Amino acid sequence: MVDMAVKHIPTGEVHKGYKVSITGCGFDMRANPDHWEDTTESITCKKNGCKN
Ligand SMILES: [Zn+2]
Repeated sequence: MVDMAVKHIPTGEVHKGYKVSITGCGFDMRANPDHWEDTTESITCKKNGCKN
């Protein structure tokens, strides 16, 4: 499987993402779907689950 990356637009932080549901670190993207976009940038989130 290829890891997806999603950007949290308000903070510019890039998380590992799982199909418009939750980030690798457990944030629920469905609460504010407008705040997230797919990206090819490197993951910058340092939390467990995103940073590997
Ligand atoms: Zn994260």
